[in-house]
Amino acid sequence: MRALVLHKPGELKLEQIPIPSCGSKEVLIELKTSCICNGSDPAILAGAHWETFPIVFGHEACGTIVACGDQVTQFQIGDRVAWWFTVGAFAEYVSVTPEHVAMVKLPETISDDEGPLFELAGAAIRAVEAAKIKAGDKVLIVGLGPSGLIMSQLAKNLGASTVIGWDLYGMRRELGLQLGCDGVFDNGACSVREAVINQFGEMDVVIDAYADDLLPGSPTLNDAIAVIRQGGTLISYGHPQQGRMIDIFDFQKKQVIMRGPVNDMQLVRLYFQKAVDYAVEGKLKLAPLISGRVSLDHVMDGLELVMNHPETNLKILVDIQ
Ligand SMILES: [Zn+2]
Repeated sequence: MRALVLHKPGELKLEQIPIPSCGSKEVLIELKTSCICNGSDPAILAGAHWETFPIVFGHEACGTIVACGDQVTQFQIGDRVAWWFTVGAFAEYVSVTPEHVAMVKLPETISDDEGPLFELAGAAIRAVEAAKIKAGDKVLIVGLGPSGLIMSQLAKNLGASTVIGWDLYGMRRELGLQLGCDGVFDNGACSVREAVINQFGEMDVVIDAYADDLLPGSPTLNDAIAVIRQGGTLISYGHPQQGRMIDIFDFQKKQVIMRGPVNDMQLVRLYFQKAVDYAVEGKLKLAPLISGRVSLDHVMDGLELVMNHPETNLKILVDIQ
């Protein structure tokens, strides 16, 4: 089969390799469309987050089960599935052990193009669920990239009365409004602290969903903490290699509760299914996030777009077949 193999950081090659075997606890999945991850793929390519090589590159995929181990009970041949999290998305086939991941069946109403974006939805809902949003809460999403644009919709579905977002790029802010944000702010151009407090008051929940801090001056997270109410919740989701800076005094003074995304796999499976249900009901829209597509032999071109042109690119699909 054709597969894009990462031999070591920076060394990516399209090769012919054997179709993976399907063990008794595994399913073999034929992939049709995958997706470039805007955060982790560039990071893994650069040498972060991953230690064992070679690997088949990519992790956002969906496909149809074509072989099923005899100990697999939840899935069968013919099921179209998405899952969080394994590598191996940029190849014609991948074998996955369902008990090691959160795997969901995708109904027919979900297109092959939307399919791979469910990996992202399954990951993003872990952050929004960790916030334990209550009816009427005001939620700020810092960073309206692909994850933030999914989180903004999920926060509304989970009961938030007001959801607002910050982003440096106009295309992302515009899409945030289209997908249901009550307000969006350009944190590169205005004093977001004052603008948010004046228009929406203090926030109950802030979700940090941005990648690198691109702004000079005060770290972005300080502005986020400045608009959280006393005792509010900060969910940390974005994880730049250089870490995050915060004003710890402001954090302590406000008694901010900080949490990471849910990582208990049993819960992740439940939440992931909830995300699929929202999409089926039309309450989670993923197709608007697709901004382009490349073939398997042009993944580097797609990576270049998401890394160097975030102002015009969101999700880039990879056509496998
Ligand atoms: Zn990803």
